[in-house]
Amino acid sequence: MLNTKKNIRNYSKNELIAVFAELGEPAFRAKQVYQWLWKNSILDFYQMKNISKPLQIKLDEHFETYTTAIDITQISQDGTIKVGFKTYDNESVEGVIIPSEDRVTACISSQVGCTLSCKFCATGFLPRKRNLFAFEIYDQVNLLNKLAEKQYGRGLTNIVYMGMGEPLLNYDEVLKSLYLLNDEEEGLGFGAKRITISTSGIVRNIKRLADEGLKINLALSLHASNNDKRTQIMEINKSNPLEELLEAFKYFYEKTHNKITYEYILLSGFNDSIEDAKELVILCQDFPVYINLIEYNAVDGTPFFKSKKEHRDKFLQTLRDNNVAAKVRKSRGKDIDAACGQLANKIANQTI
Ligand code: SAH
Ligand code: SF4
Repeated sequence: MLNTKKNIRNYSKNELIAVFAELGEPAFRAKQVYQWLWKNSILDFYQMKNISKPLQIKLDEHFETYTTAIDITQISQDGTIKVGFKTYDNESVEGVIIPSEDRVTACISSQVGCTLSCKFCATGFLPRKRNLFAFEIYDQVNLLNKLAEKQYGRGLTNIVYMGMGEPLLNYDEVLKSLYLLNDEEEGLGFGAKRITISTSGIVRNIKRLADEGLKINLALSLHASNNDKRTQIMEINKSNPLEELLEAFKYFYEKTHNKITYEYILLSGFNDSIEDAKELVILCQDFPVYINLIEYNAVDGTPFFKSKKEHRDKFLQTLRDNNVAAKVRKSRGKDIDAACGQLANKIANQTI
C-alpha cells in the first residue's frame, strides 16, 4: 500500500495549525502537539499526555515522525566523541562532542556530504547527496545532548555548525533549525549566543542572515588573505571574492554586533609566512574580529601539511603585534578523525 502519511516534523507551527484545521482540529491542539515535538522531543503520539486517545489515533493515521538515529560512536583519547548518524533514508552524517573544562560543544552537520570541494577538506571529497532537513539538524543536537549527559554528566553548552556541509547553501532548513534550537517557548531554548555558524563565505546569504536579527555568532573559513591564494584552495572564492565577502561581514556586524571569527588553517609554505600575516591584519581593520588559527589536520590525497610550530608562533605574534585578537585553536579528536575537516564517514564502532 502506498504510504501517504506526511512527515509532521516538516511543518512550521502555522502550517501545522492549517493542517489540523483541515482535519477539523482546533489551533490549540496543533500548538500542543508542536510543543511535544520540539520542546519535549516526544515523537510518539501515544506519549503526548494531554492529547486525547482518538486524536492520538488520528495523528498516527495521518502522520509520520521521521527519525534520525545514532548509528555508531567512537571516543578519542581526549574525550571527544564522534558520532555517526543514520537519517530516515539511510544516509550517513557525522557529529562530534568536544568536552572541555567549561564547555561541552557539539559540532553538527548541515548537509549529507558538501556542495563545495575545498581542496584541504575531507568532507569536500565526498559527493554531495542532499541537504539535511531542519528536523535532522535538531535531532543531532538532541541526541548529542543526551549522549553528553550520559557520558560526561553534563549537557551541551555550545553548538557549532562545523560538521559536514556548507550551512549557508542549505539556508532555509538551517534557519528553521536555528529557531527550533533557540526558541524558549517551543524549542530547545538554546541561547543564540552559544550557537556558531561557520561558512566558507556565501555573500548573499550572509546578508540575509544579518537581516534575520538572530544573536548567533558567525565564523568565516577564510584560510588565505588574498583572492589569488584563496581561489586556489576554495573555488567558491571565484564567485564570492574577498572584497564582497568582507563587505558582507561588515554588514552582518553593523546589523547585529554579534561575534565574528575568521578561521585560518595554517598550511605549511602556502599561507603561513609573515607577509601572509600582515595581509591578514589589513583585512581585520573594519570591525571587531577574532582570528582562530587552526592546525591543519592531515587529509589523505591533499598536498598540504601543517605549519611548523616556529612559523605558527611568528604568524600569531605578527597578528598580536598589530592588535588583532588571535589564538591557536587546539585540535581535538584527531586520533579518531573527528577533528575539523576530517569528517568523511570513516568511523569505527565502540561501545560507550
Ligand atoms: N562548510 C563550513 C562548515 C564546515 S567546515 C565551512 O567551511 O566553514 C568546519 C571548519 O573546518 C572550517 O573552518 C573548515 O575550513 C575547517 N577545515 C576543513 N578541513 C580542515 C582540515 N583538514 N584541517 C583543519 N580544519 C579544516
Ligand atoms: Fe564543504 Fe566547509 Fe569542507 Fe569546504 S571546508 S568542503 S565548505 S565542509
